[in-house]
Amino acid sequence: MTSSSGHILILAGTFEARRVASSLSNAMPDTRLTVSFSGAVRDLPELAVPTRVGGFGGVAGLGDYINRAGISLIIDATHPFAFQMSCNAAAAAEMTGCEIIRLERAPWEPEAGDRWRSAANFEDAKAALDTEARAFFAVGRKEIGRFTDRTDLFGLVRMIEPPKHALPDHWKLVLSRPSQQVEEEMELFAKYRIDTLVSKNSGGTRAYAKIAAARNLKLPVIMIERPRLPTTKTAESVAEILRIAGHLANH
Ligand code: NAP
Repeated sequence: MTSSSGHILILAGTFEARRVASSLSNAMPDTRLTVSFSGAVRDLPELAVPTRVGGFGGVAGLGDYINRAGISLIIDATHPFAFQMSCNAAAAAEMTGCEIIRLERAPWEPEAGDRWRSAANFEDAKAALDTEARAFFAVGRKEIGRFTDRTDLFGLVRMIEPPKHALPDHWKLVLSRPSQQVEEEMELFAKYRIDTLVSKNSGGTRAYAKIAAARNLKLPVIMIERPRLPTTKTAESVAEILRIAGHLANH
């Protein structure tokens, strides 16, 4: 791959994906870039690079796209819980022989005094909730349905787009992005008398305020661990992705 002939596909969905796109377009202006969004969220960010929206049609569809678009490198910068997309990307890269790197931001770690309980998956998290708990759910719109048969609970559910499943009538839905202000998260928890936080271990800074708010309020946290993703080259930071992409572009 050369910097002028390569075409890099960035699988987006995270804040870091946008940073990868803008940093790469500055650092490698001769390299063609395409940023791909799933289309799950309607208000997509403005990017100064070409974008495409929507699924590829599984591994076969992505393989076909890679061949047609002449993709030489996939940067998988999807969310750590975007299991299907990461699996498809790894399989399609192997099938077509194109390079792949996954940006894997570090998971959140508990600090002294934190009352975290680890849950291996969504089912475990549901089983760990006390009877009649008042829970704040920081899980996705596809995943909230795993909890909705626990009608003994009060659930405060925040997500960007409406959930796929109906919520129990006595639960509260807030349609917004996570706040980055710890005080705002503490006020929200206090307003709805939340006694437990249920969160995916997404890592990163953009959704961390709720974790700090739970710490300040000494609330228990049920932390859902990440799915195990296929083995590929990984990078922990945008800077490392840039270094690896630059290296691949020059070989
Ligand atoms: P997923 O379950 O891994 O993906 C499902 C399908 O959506 C994929 O098979 C693919 O369809 C399509 N898709 C996903 N990301 C895509 C992308 N960047 N470009 C094109 N198509 C894409 O992932 P998900 O449905 O997005 O979300 C699963 C979990 O991750 C949820 O917890 C969600 O809240 C969280 N999450 C994901 C993202 C993300 O980057 N995708 C961002 C924020 C949060 P085809 O098989 O048809 O190609």
